Amino acid sequence: MKELEERIRKEGTVKPGNVLKVDAFLNHQCDVALFDQMGQAWAEHFAGKQIDKILTIEASGIGIACCAARHFNNVPVVFAKKAQSINLDGDQYSTSIYSFTKQREFPVIVAKKFLNPGERVLIIDDFLANGKALRGLLDICQHAEVEVVGIGIAIEKGFQGGGDDLRAEGYDVDSLAIVESMDPESGTIVFR
Ligand code: 5GP
Repeated sequence: MKELEERIRKEGTVKPGNVLKVDAFLNHQCDVALFDQMGQAWAEHFAGKQIDKILTIEASGIGIACCAARHFNNVPVVFAKKAQSINLDGDQYSTSIYSFTKQREFPVIVAKKFLNPGERVLIIDDFLANGKALRGLLDICQHAEVEVVGIGIAIEKGFQGGGDDLRAEGYDVDSLAIVESMDPESGTIVFR
């Protein structure tokens, strides 16, 4: 998506450790007109597929998922919550995700009542790097016995490989901007 690539070029900054900072429009300050265009782009990609629910993860996924839902018949958006600890009381699905940016493992949960077996789910998230966050969401989907129709990502860092692994496994991953390389010294960002 050209507009997203342009915004990344103009306002994104490359930090050491392969971190792309886009807090001017995506992760801290939110450009909802851009989010709306992103939702439109995913709706075009997944047109004709039945989608009952959108699943994302807090916090940065929520805004984009809610804007996207407007383009998918206002389906409910469920977000996985980062929990302090996993409460094994049986009314929630839980998994553990290794955070790329925080460099630690943390538990996430989704209440069972919000994912029903057989539902068709579109997963949406802001970034795809190594794919750990998505693996956690896919794990929850598997336990919930829902069908993953596709995965919509705002920014994929293609050089970290998570997206290509998922595509090789047959998942329909639609990333709106794929960064092929980025250089913290010069700030140069190359898109696929
Ligand atoms: P993964 O689990 O695919 O390795 O990383 C995806 C998650 O880590 C995303 O949900 C996002 O929160 C965070 N993340 C990964 N890379 C970046 C990055 O370059 N910039 C920002 N802002 N977040 C990132």
